Amino acid sequence: MNHLSLRLPTLLVATHLLCAAATAGEPLSVAADFEGASVRVLAIDQATRRIDCMPGGDPERGWPCWWYFRVDGITPGETITVRLRGSTATFGKPDGPPTKPLSSVWAMPTQATYSLDGKSWRHTAKGTKQDEWIAYTLKPNAASAFIAWGPPYTPTTAATFVEAMAKSSPHAKAGELCRSRENRAVPMLHVMEGDRPPQQRFGVWVQARQHAWESGSSWVAQGFGRWLLGDDADAAWLRQHAEIFLVPIMDIDNTATGNGGKDARPQDHNRDWSPQPHWNEVRAAQRMVGDLIDQGRMDLFVDLHNPAPGDPTFFYIMPDELLKQPMIGLRNRFLELAYGRISKIKPLMPMSNKPKITGVDYHPLWRQISANWVSMHGNPQTVSVCLETVWNHENSTTEGYRAVGAQLAAAVREYLGERPMKPWQ
Ligand SMILES: [Zn+2]
Repeated sequence: MNHLSLRLPTLLVATHLLCAAATAGEPLSVAADFEGASVRVLAIDQATRRIDCMPGGDPERGWPCWWYFRVDGITPGETITVRLRGSTATFGKPDGPPTKPLSSVWAMPTQATYSLDGKSWRHTAKGTKQDEWIAYTLKPNAASAFIAWGPPYTPTTAATFVEAMAKSSPHAKAGELCRSRENRAVPMLHVMEGDRPPQQRFGVWVQARQHAWESGSSWVAQGFGRWLLGDDADAAWLRQHAEIFLVPIMDIDNTATGNGGKDARPQDHNRDWSPQPHWNEVRAAQRMVGDLIDQGRMDLFVDLHNPAPGDPTFFYIMPDELLKQPMIGLRNRFLELAYGRISKIKPLMPMSNKPKITGVDYHPLWRQISANWVSMHGNPQTVSVCLETVWNHENSTTEGYRAVGAQLAAAVREYLGERPMKPWQ
């Protein structure tokens, strides 16, 4: 069992394969020596302009399904092919030995995502499947192009976003949830407007990316933040009546290093909400959420994810039999409002109105899942849910994800507008 060769996802993989039959100008090469990148190059055919590769993540650091790299040496206007297969690295559950490779479906979006500037991201055409491979073609009008599983959202993206929001609005502060185990800053946006004291505000906590590969969930968080700090009168109401904490990336270390995060050793972030969390981000979030609970104002907790490749957008909730009223009724009302808005987004982000259940039968560590932990430790009125946003759909783009976040935020406002106001003289 030797994972050493896979352990360096940020390694520069500049593979120039000698090929006498090369026809185009520059040889194609691959770079992955930057934040969030991950790939393992298997071959580059300079004659057919095709790169064969697989995700480069270390399975010790979570599902090796995320991939993101830059192709250099493109003759502008030529067609290149990226042919991808699932990682062959064996992985196992955090408490067991590595057993087998991860199913390749997690690594193979129907359409990959690419960018010429590393900022604006578009889908490729649909990939073509053949045996264990999927081939994506693109025709960039540039010498270099980034290509990825989905639109990347790195620690720098999060820090830039949080700082831009704080600069553009007097009601937003760029904060830091904590430093990670690898000493990276975990950016957090803190929002409230006006003189209302915090104790008389609804407490709202929104976090994304406990699973590092689920990049779309960070774009949903960003959409939430942008709506919240926008001009809409409803956004102003929410800023004036609530105190909102937004963490676009929880697992900052695996996001930075291009690892998958899910089922990482020794503990998945979203199974780490125990009395003694392993991860600094979980410990810090648990403490701040705990403060809101102690103040009786943990009103809404939303944990953002991306689901399985065939799933639409949907909520995960705890089974009713493990909860008490008024929590169940309030949660159902919030789900109804959120579904009513997200399901009407144009262009469509397909959504199911049937939540899935994360209880005793879902996972042995179900009590340590963040939204469950908050439900079980929360106030009687606490609504705590997980939103899974569709990722393998033609509208699963930065715009689509942000639209989901905006509608989620509008639903939070609508829901809190129905709740009794916190007392304030
Ligand atoms: Zn997840």
